[in-house]
Amino acid sequence: MRYGFIGLGSLGGSLALNLVRAGFRVVVHDLDRANAAPHLTAGAEWADSLASLAAASDAVITCLPSPVVSERLLRALLPSLAKGSTWIEMSTLGRDDILRLAAVANEYGVDTLELPVTGGVHLAARGEITLLAGGDAEIIARHQPALDAIGGRLFHMGPLGSAAVIKVITNMLAFIHLVADGEALMLAKRGGLDLAKAWEAIRASSGNSFVHETEGQLILSGSYDVGFTMDLALKDLGFAAVFGRDFGVPLDLAGLTLQTFERARAAYGGSEQSTAVVRLLEDALGTD
Ligand code: NAD
Repeated sequence: MRYGFIGLGSLGGSLALNLVRAGFRVVVHDLDRANAAPHLTAGAEWADSLASLAAASDAVITCLPSPVVSERLLRALLPSLAKGSTWIEMSTLGRDDILRLAAVANEYGVDTLELPVTGGVHLAARGEITLLAGGDAEIIARHQPALDAIGGRLFHMGPLGSAAVIKVITNMLAFIHLVADGEALMLAKRGGLDLAKAWEAIRASSGNSFVHETEGQLILSGSYDVGFTMDLALKDLGFAAVFGRDFGVPLDLAGLTLQTFERARAAYGGSEQSTAVVRLLEDALGTD
C-alpha cells in the first residue's frame, strides 16, 4: 500500500512522519517544501505536483487548515487517483463538508474515510493521538496497519459525518476548559496563591481536566506553544455553533467561548497560539 500525504504542518507533519518511520512507502507534498525535510530524511519521496502524488498513491491522506483548501486539493487530486483508491481526511471539517466531498470522491470511484484526531501535537509526535473514524469498517480494516502507525486508540464512531460531530464536540469542550482554566489560574494569582501549588491542587481536585494538565501547565511555564492557532480554534467553534443550530441545542458556554476567542483573535491575530486566549485576562488586569 502506497500512501500520499498532503499537509505537513503542526499536526500533519508528525502524523506523516509516524507513517514514514514505520516503513510505509510515503509520497509527501506541502505548499512549503521545507516542511518535508524530516520526512525526506526518513525515507519519504517528494511530489512536485498533486497529480504526481496521486498517481504514486493507493491512498491519499490530507491534513489541511480549512474545508476550502481540502475541497480545492481533493478536486485537483481526483482525476489522477485510481478507481478503488482511498481519500483519508484527517483535517477537522464540518459534517456537511465531509459528506459533500465524499460524494464528489465517490463519483470518481474513490472511497472516503474521515479521520480527524484529538489529543494535540505532543501526542501526535509520540504516535499516541486518538483517531476518530467515520466511514465503512471495511475501509478502516484495509488501512489498519497504517492507522496503527499514525496514532493510538481508534474510535469508529459510525458512518461518514459521525467523526466530524464527535471531533467538534471534543474541541468545544477543550476550548471551554481552556478559557475556564485561564480564569481559575488568574483567580489563584490575584488571590495571592503560589501558582505552581495552585496548579497542583487543581490537578488533584474535582476541577481537574486534560486541558488543565497539558495547556494549563504550558501557560504556567510562560509558554503558549501548543501547536494550534486561534484561526483553527475559531474554525472549530464555528462548527460547534452550526451543530447547535442544526441539532436544536442551545450552546451558551460554547457561544461565550467563541466570543472570547474572537476578542483574542482581534487582539493578537489569527496565527497566534490558541492558548493565548488566556492573555486577554492578563492584559486586562495587568500581570503583577
Ligand atoms: P497547520 O496550519 O500547521 O498546517 C497546515 C499545512 O497545510 C501547512 O504545512 C501548509 O503549508 C499546508 N497547506 C496549506 N494549503 C496547502 C495547499 N494548497 N497545498 C499543500 N499544502 C497546503 O495546521 P495544523 O495545526 O497541522 O492543522 C491541520 C488540520 O488538523 C486542521 O484542520 C486542524 O483543525 C486539525 N487539527 C489540528 C490539531 C493541532 O493540534 N494542531 C489537532 C487536531 C486537529
